[in-house]
Amino acid sequence: MLTINKETNIFPWRHERRFNAYSNYFRSLYGARVQKVSIDAGFTCPNRDGSRGIGGCTYCNNDAFNPSYCQPVKSVSEQIGEGIKFHKWRYNEAVSYLAYFQAYSNTYAPLDILKKLYGEALSYPGVIGLIIGTRPDCIDEEKLGYLHELSAKCYLAIEYGIESCYNKTLKRINRGHSFEDAVDAVKRTTAHGITTGVHFIFGLPGESREEMLNQVDIISSLPIKTVKFHQLQILKGTAMEMEFKNNPDDFELFTWEEYLDFFIKFLEKLNPAIVVERFTGEAPPRFLTGEGWGKKRTDQIVNLIEKRLEELDTWQGRLYEDKRQKTKDKRQKTKVKSKK
Ligand code: SF4
Repeated sequence: MLTINKETNIFPWRHERRFNAYSNYFRSLYGARVQKVSIDAGFTCPNRDGSRGIGGCTYCNNDAFNPSYCQPVKSVSEQIGEGIKFHKWRYNEAVSYLAYFQAYSNTYAPLDILKKLYGEALSYPGVIGLIIGTRPDCIDEEKLGYLHELSAKCYLAIEYGIESCYNKTLKRINRGHSFEDAVDAVKRTTAHGITTGVHFIFGLPGESREEMLNQVDIISSLPIKTVKFHQLQILKGTAMEMEFKNNPDDFELFTWEEYLDFFIKFLEKLNPAIVVERFTGEAPPRFLTGEGWGKKRTDQIVNLIEKRLEELDTWQGRLYEDKRQKTKDKRQKTKVKSKK
């Protein structure tokens, strides 16, 4: 169980916010705000081009997450330039940028192509690092070796879409990989000294709320630095849109109030060492089918979650149990006993 110093109100992540927040993590690393700038470098995905599957994950519509300045017809540099302009207009404060290779699977190409694209991003003035979103089955030792070398020169993180800890769900949403594949990729990436993040979705079909909540122990035990959570949004033009129309009873979509309660319970049990990047996803209204809440902006949601944490006087990891530590302690005690 994680307790805090009530006199200073400082949490183990060394600030007063009640969760281990991504923005503060970068402030602590660089002493200032760091802004992500998204890039669509024209990759595809093995779950779409037939090498793993066709049609892709049933919920996927990449256009819904791509900012308007991200278009693969533009070069990486052009997209970064436009992204920086866009963010400067919104938040005047950012001084450094991370190039976020976001759309599709951004390690799904031969290494020489990756080197060229990542190199172009890193040579853009003000870009201090890379965040590379990809699938667990799109990484290999050669790429990890190169990314390990690169990570000595700049900030570098790989983010894997995992989405669920349950293979029955991964099968149903047509992910084309198992949870074990994902854990293997995470472990191999961390073993190369590369910062690793993961993404999960709450509300996927066939999962009960209890099952969703029970994932917290598994996620807490992964050797990851960051995590992003999304509520399921049923997007136009996806296979899931049809599935929902045909079998709405298979889905337990959250209302906002339900999600807030659920998420607080989840956060209380989450390993406090894990930096939380997002609580929810936010697709532009034109992509939404009208299910779910959809009208709150991410910054409003963060405020509401922090307000609720304050009201309940709770925080990330308050109820976290380090099960690995417990097992170690138990083994230690048994050893001591047997020596006596
Ligand atoms: S969610 Fe990612 S892995 Fe799934 S189809 Fe879309 S791009 Fe491919």
